[in-house]
Amino acid sequence: MQIYRLPPRSAALLFDMDSTLYTHPEYARAQVDPLIKRFGQKLGKDFPGARREIEDYRRNWAASHGGRTLSLGFVFAAYGITMEENIRWREESCEPGLYLKADPVLRDTLAVLASAFALAVVTNNPVSVARKTLDVLGVADLFKVLVGLDTCRVSKPHKAPFLKAAENLGLSPETCISVGDRYDIDLALPLELGMGGILVEGVGDVYKLPEVLGLSPP
Ligand SMILES: [Mg+2]
Repeated sequence: MQIYRLPPRSAALLFDMDSTLYTHPEYARAQVDPLIKRFGQKLGKDFPGARREIEDYRRNWAASHGGRTLSLGFVFAAYGITMEENIRWREESCEPGLYLKADPVLRDTLAVLASAFALAVVTNNPVSVARKTLDVLGVADLFKVLVGLDTCRVSKPHKAPFLKAAENLGLSPETCISVGDRYDIDLALPLELGMGGILVEGVGDVYKLPEVLGLSPP
């Protein structure tokens, strides 16, 4: 875990979802592979070819952008994949129930956090997938706001989803802390917006947040 900034008057935690609220590399791959396959079909490429195309694009983009990481949504947009297709592909391919199960430790942790902070999810998955995932984890009722790919119709890293989450919570960005597993995607822009930022290596670090934020552990 790496804490980049904690605002003096924090009132909300904006969580990334995938690889933050759960850690499951196989499921992370199972979400991305069907998207790469669909992308390949559009380009007339097989799966390895499509994956190489994405890797090459990301490598070239990083080389001219100070080594920063680009989310898959931005790569798709660069190839003319519409937001509608991106949203539909994700809705059709994400089956969290096949991989994840209820996480009682996460539930206890979030319940403690919810006693002091408003909780939101800001994800590059559509809201329907976020809701399904949080339901499977058994924590959906603890989040006041879900901002997904279809809320602002842009992928992180973009300011809009973070600002929308703060707005929907009725809070200023300076009182929010973004929590996620990818600095460039989840933290760089929130920090620019005056938010706090905590980088986690997975849900194991989320379990430690009550203590980090000065609350009694569950
Ligand atoms: Mg993530």
